[in-house]
Amino acid sequence: MDATETERTADDKIRCDACPVMCYIKPGALGACDRYANVEGNLVRVDPHVMLNRTIAKGGEVVRFAEAPEWNGDILNQAETFVTAIGAGTTYPDYKPAPFIVSAEIDGVDMVTVVTEGIFSYCGVKVKIDTDRFLGPETSAVQVEGETVGHVTTGEYGSQMLSLGGVKHLTGGSKKEGRVTCDTLLSLCNGKAVEMKIDDGETVVVQAGKPPIVNGILETRMRVGCGSATIGIFAKQWQGKVDDVVVVDDHITGVLSEHQAGKFLGVPPSGIKIKGRRSTPGRYFQVAEPGTGWGGTNIDDPLAILGPFDPKVAYPGLRILMVSTTGEHAAYYELDQTLRPIQKDLPNPLIEPVERIAENCEPALSTVLFVAGAGGSLRAGVTENPVRLTRSVKDALTYVTCGGAPVYVWPGGGITFMVDVTRLPANAFGYVPTPAIVAPLEFTLKLSDYKELGGHMDCVQPLSNLTGSTRLSLPHRQDNPWPFAPGHVQRSNG
Ligand code: SF4
Repeated sequence: MDATETERTADDKIRCDACPVMCYIKPGALGACDRYANVEGNLVRVDPHVMLNRTIAKGGEVVRFAEAPEWNGDILNQAETFVTAIGAGTTYPDYKPAPFIVSAEIDGVDMVTVVTEGIFSYCGVKVKIDTDRFLGPETSAVQVEGETVGHVTTGEYGSQMLSLGGVKHLTGGSKKEGRVTCDTLLSLCNGKAVEMKIDDGETVVVQAGKPPIVNGILETRMRVGCGSATIGIFAKQWQGKVDDVVVVDDHITGVLSEHQAGKFLGVPPSGIKIKGRRSTPGRYFQVAEPGTGWGGTNIDDPLAILGPFDPKVAYPGLRILMVSTTGEHAAYYELDQTLRPIQKDLPNPLIEPVERIAENCEPALSTVLFVAGAGGSLRAGVTENPVRLTRSVKDALTYVTCGGAPVYVWPGGGITFMVDVTRLPANAFGYVPTPAIVAPLEFTLKLSDYKELGGHMDCVQPLSNLTGSTRLSLPHRQDNPWPFAPGHVQRSNG
């Protein structure tokens, strides 16, 4: 726990100045965000400060900071230890240097990592939910505890998308809306499940890295493709086993006999008629309303999308397979003497092709990407000349990480970054009741570049300074790039 200079009152309360709330904290108590406490008159950050260690990740010996207060940073190879901002604390107001500005020699080059727990009023999450099921109309509000926390945005391939949080819901509505939005973002970022109700739509439970639950039903499969793509992939495997196949999809329903794949294989016309808007041969839009039935439509009976068969082409005994884009639904029909489809058991030769669709589906997951703008005032904690930090990030002289995890920095102005929350250590995110989300942020660059961009050189300290019983060494995740890896920033001296 790192103590900082603090203002005290006559009744022994201390004032936390780590965010604009400026809590007075009585002895033994926590501040409003549960991140800082008054411990024997000292203001301390209560969570351990997290380091990532590559030696541990590779099966090396664990050095327990907590049990080795006499530990000296030089024991570890500096190149194998990365100081994250998780638990590092925040300095406020922003012109104060970041809590830790740590130097290390990596492959003969002096590097520096500037770490701070950024306080983000401009932040949110983009949620990708792998499901065909219709969750709600685009732009519909997403409600948590009766408060609007975001909206449904444009769908992606096999996934429904939500955009949650943002400055409007955090600051522009009622106090409760801001609090519930902040709670929702915090829970999602820290890997907890959140139940949401979509206006004119469904109820969905989202948890990063876990399957979504739609109306109480666990989603297991992400579609193999749209209806047209499914025809394209499996056409050859159906050939000769059935006379026509319809892949029911809310977006693009595919028909084998009319589709280019069927034409190429010589599948003859079947006289089938699909209700809906024909886009190109064998590809139909709007065959039904969106819903939670077959292929993300609202239908439970696939025959609902068929018109009468053309008597000039169709014939009694014509065999038709109707299947959904996940293989979850499938039905087999043969035409009777009046050319009406009569459902029959799926013949043996078709069982494997239908199972093949399901086999090719990936597991359905919910993905949560945290998005925030680091191009604002927190840059002053890094440098006295903030725009130089922005330029340095854009010029790939500075590598940005979030709790040691790789981020995507958006092109254009500012330092707007996105990170997959499952790539950070557990509970890396916090909040302050302004309301805003607290997220760890690290800037890694050459020491000489840091000096050049107006860095707080008098606050640079070597890794070996960071001793103490409240530092936690965690194994670096091997699927995350090592922040000091060559190529992230230009390394050559000079
Ligand atoms: S909310 Fe937390 S960080 Fe902000 S002043 Fe209170 S204790 Fe400090």
